[in-house]
Amino acid sequence: MTNRKKLVAGNWKMNGSLDANEALVLGILPEADGAVDVSVFCPFPYLGQLQRLLKGAGVQFGAQDMSAHLSGAYTGEVSVAMLKEFGVSQVIVGHSERRTYHAESSDIVAKKASLAIQNGVTPIVCLGETLGQREAGQVESVIASQLDPVIAECSKFVSDGVWNLVIAYEPVWAIGTGVTASPEQAQEVHAMIRQRLQAMLGEALAQSTRILYGGSVKPGNAAEIFAKVDIDGGLIGGAALSSDDFSGIIRAARG
Ligand code: PEP
Repeated sequence: MTNRKKLVAGNWKMNGSLDANEALVLGILPEADGAVDVSVFCPFPYLGQLQRLLKGAGVQFGAQDMSAHLSGAYTGEVSVAMLKEFGVSQVIVGHSERRTYHAESSDIVAKKASLAIQNGVTPIVCLGETLGQREAGQVESVIASQLDPVIAECSKFVSDGVWNLVIAYEPVWAIGTGVTASPEQAQEVHAMIRQRLQAMLGEALAQSTRILYGGSVKPGNAAEIFAKVDIDGGLIGGAALSSDDFSGIIRAARG
C-alpha cells in the first residue's frame, strides 16, 4: 500500500503571455485545495510573475529546464541558483523535446537532476520511448538507459531515506499527439520503473517515489489513468493551457 500524494503538473512549454498566464492561474486556483499537489511550469521570463501571483497559494511553480552548470560562460542558460531566487521549488529535466531538439543525453539529465536536488529543488525527470523503440520491443532497455544514470547520480543525495525526485513516464509517441497510452500500458511501465527503483534503492524509497504519466492526458481520460496503482498523477502539456481542462484533470486526480 502507498501513501503517495497525487501530483498534477502543467508544462506550458513555449506558450503564454503576461495576460494569458494570469487568467490561467487564477482559473485553476479554486481547484488547488491541497487534496492533491498542483504545479505549473512556465517559460523562464514568467517566473517572477508566477512568484507574485502564486504567493501563499496552493499551487507550486517551476521551470521547464535548468543548466547542468552552476554559473559561468554558458550563454543562454539559466542556473539552479537563479531559479531559486524566483522561488522555484521544482524543475522539469529531460523532457523528450529537450532530448530531441537539444541533444540532451541521459548523463546530462542525471547531472541536472542531481544539481537540482543538491540545491533543494525537486527535479521531475522525464523518461520514455519512441514508437519505433516500442515496436522493436525496446521499452525496458530504453527506460533503463534513461533511468539508471539518474539513480546512480541522485542516490548519492538520499538523506534520511528520502530523495526529492519525481519521475514522469512520457511515451514520446503520446506527447502532443492525442494518442494516450492505455492505462494498462502506462501501468506496466510504471511498475517496471518502480521495480528498478526497488532493485537499486530498496523498497521504502521505491514506494515513496512519485511516478507521473504524461502523454495526451485530458479531463476525459485522466481518472482512468490515475486509478492505476503505480500512477501518481500526471505531467500535462496541451491540456494545461486551458484552466477548465487543467481543473478537470485536478478533479480527476482528487478522485
Ligand atoms: C508533455 O509535453 O509533457 C505532455 C505530456 O504533453 P501533452 O499532454 O500535450 O501530450
